[in-house]
Amino acid sequence: MERLDKEIIKRFEQLIKDSSKSIVLVPHTNPDGDAMGSVLGLWRVLCNAGFTVKIVSPTKYPEFYHWMDGHEQVINFSHHPKQSARAFAESDLLICMDFNQLARLGDMKPLVEGFEGKKVLVDHHPYPGNFTDLTISDITFSSTAELIFTVLQSTEFARYIDRNAATSFFTGIMTDTGSFAFNVSNPDTFEVVAQLTRIGIDQQEIYSRVYDNYSADRMRLMGFCLSNRMTVYPEYHTACMYITREDQKAFNFVTGDNEGFVNMPLSIKGVVFSVLFTEKEKYIKASFRSKGDFAVNEVSEKYFNGGGHRNAAGGEYYASLQDAIAQFEKLLPEFEDRIKQSVKY
Ligand code: 5GP
Ligand code: MN
Repeated sequence: MERLDKEIIKRFEQLIKDSSKSIVLVPHTNPDGDAMGSVLGLWRVLCNAGFTVKIVSPTKYPEFYHWMDGHEQVINFSHHPKQSARAFAESDLLICMDFNQLARLGDMKPLVEGFEGKKVLVDHHPYPGNFTDLTISDITFSSTAELIFTVLQSTEFARYIDRNAATSFFTGIMTDTGSFAFNVSNPDTFEVVAQLTRIGIDQQEIYSRVYDNYSADRMRLMGFCLSNRMTVYPEYHTACMYITREDQKAFNFVTGDNEGFVNMPLSIKGVVFSVLFTEKEKYIKASFRSKGDFAVNEVSEKYFNGGGHRNAAGGEYYASLQDAIAQFEKLLPEFEDRIKQSVKY
């Protein structure tokens, strides 16, 4: 608990208690398991405590998270801008979760910027922006879900953390740590998991709901990409994979179908740096992963308009797929030494 400032937590608790209208919770664009786990878990806790709570997501999120408690009431801004605006207008407290820059909100940025009530940030990424009244930001947490759970534990709302909320928080921790494969050097993460387990979550079921929930098309797309869309650069201990719009059409691609692809080349012996480029309508989505000390958020920030964590980052590149790959190949010599220092075995 010493990791968190008691004063800040007190202020967070007070802001919630002072809210007399609705509270609106906001994840980042294309929310992942941690973003959705955090907002849905907090939603459940605050609802249990008697508050009216709304969740407005900038965009849709993968189907394999559509089983979590409260998922049916999430308002998708990109489909329902008016309903979203109404939710904001009816609220006096806004809590941003799992992102720390307004740019991560895409087209929903003006709505958050123009919000007239109090704003809070709860996040675990480096370099938080200064756009809220209260910032709860700590990169030593595996996930925003672990952070919000830990914060709630030392407030009077702790007693409202039920099995449903615990399930959502566990989903966030599980997905942001790659099922406890990375970002788990702090033993507190396992203490939190122990507490969630005591509350009664079914870890096996949660794992299965998230990871055994794909279509056959998605499996075939994965096989296709591994065979036809992956280049390994042994001299750089690096691999690059890409998915074109045509590939997506051929395999009936839906949101989330490329989830996890970027991690796969890291299981090749000697590969410590992996990138996945996914061609979108207006830009190329870049995903980066690394092993060891090599910081991929630096690559993402410098060359792909993005950011993220040391070992998992992403960005958006406004040019063609070919340009993105060319840009990537060009930067490899610059990072060669740092990549090589990450090769331990
Ligand atoms: P993913 O590759 O799974 O989309 O993203 C991995 C991590 O990179 C995310 O948890 C997030 O921290 C970061 N990230 C992904 N996309 C972006 C982006 O467009 N901008 C920034 N700043 N960070 C991103
Ligand atoms: Mn996260």
